[in-house]
Amino acid sequence: MGTDDAYAELGLAAGATDHEIKAAWRRLVSQWHPDRNASPQAVARMQRINLAFELLRQGVEAEARPQAQPQAEPAPASKSARTPPPEPPRPAWHIERKLKLTLEQAAVGGRMVLRGRHVERCEACEGLGYRHSPRPCEHCHGVGRIGQRNWFGWVTGFETCSHCEGDGLARLECEACNGHGELGRCRYEIAVDLPAGLRHGEELNLSAGGTHGDRLKLHVMLREHALFRLDPDGTLHCEMPVDGFLWMANRWIEVPTLGGMQQLRLDRRHLRYRLRGQGFPKTRGGPRAHYIVDVKPLFPAQFTREQEKLIERLAASQQHPPGSPMHEWRTRFEGWKGRQG
Ligand SMILES: [Zn+2]
Ligand SMILES: [Zn+2]
Repeated sequence: MGTDDAYAELGLAAGATDHEIKAAWRRLVSQWHPDRNASPQAVARMQRINLAFELLRQGVEAEARPQAQPQAEPAPASKSARTPPPEPPRPAWHIERKLKLTLEQAAVGGRMVLRGRHVERCEACEGLGYRHSPRPCEHCHGVGRIGQRNWFGWVTGFETCSHCEGDGLARLECEACNGHGELGRCRYEIAVDLPAGLRHGEELNLSAGGTHGDRLKLHVMLREHALFRLDPDGTLHCEMPVDGFLWMANRWIEVPTLGGMQQLRLDRRHLRYRLRGQGFPKTRGGPRAHYIVDVKPLFPAQFTREQEKLIERLAASQQHPPGSPMHEWRTRFEGWKGRQG
């Protein structure tokens, strides 16, 4: 491969700058790397791209030396005549992340803005930060291990060479990423439309819109709720202590729901209350299940003297007319006692 062929391989005009060579190579690598490109010619093309790059990089280094002297010629009058090369299209982002939702958010879904940092991995070195050279590692002479010697100089064992991590090949810092393994980090801010009724552990694959073809893979996590418990079928539960006297008095109380506070009338005949269609969606985007409130009336362990008096009056006022369950029970109980002799 000659220098002209190398320029052509990278799609550059002869005399391109070092920066342009690097940019073109990066762009072609992201297009032709066999990890991304399944076509049968990808491997051969990738080898030609690398070869062209090495050739031109050597040329640039050789030319850089004589150009080191200051140039006496005046600078060209018009710099703007040369238009900068268009920004190469960036590869599509594949963002995979957790999505933590409260039960309230998951119940209704809707638009949500996700923010974070995207790390663009260097494809040229597959994120390693180096490339292998065909030359052997100079620290272990290609063996991959280094002998450990004791005080007398005798070899007592071997350890893996830390420079080549045991593969015996010399490493070259990756040119594309300067050895970092990544091409950059950037902040992203993406609005997504979530369906109602996402469950803990679900996976959501979304297209992020825009021209780059970005894709999002979200691992849904529902936060523990301080008040509610969710059944797999979407039934929502809340166990709620209430003042026993308020319960006896059939008072209105405030109960929490997924949509906010709501008034509920206590009924001393009942401990369980069903709020229809106020639970979690039965399925993703489906109708809402029921919400069940279980109340636990609480009475004081010790009554005050005033309360004791009131209870005495309540007990004395209690009547069980014929036909009432208590009257019926007493009739059967007294009959049985009489037969005991
Ligand atoms: Zn790299
Ligand atoms: Zn080594």
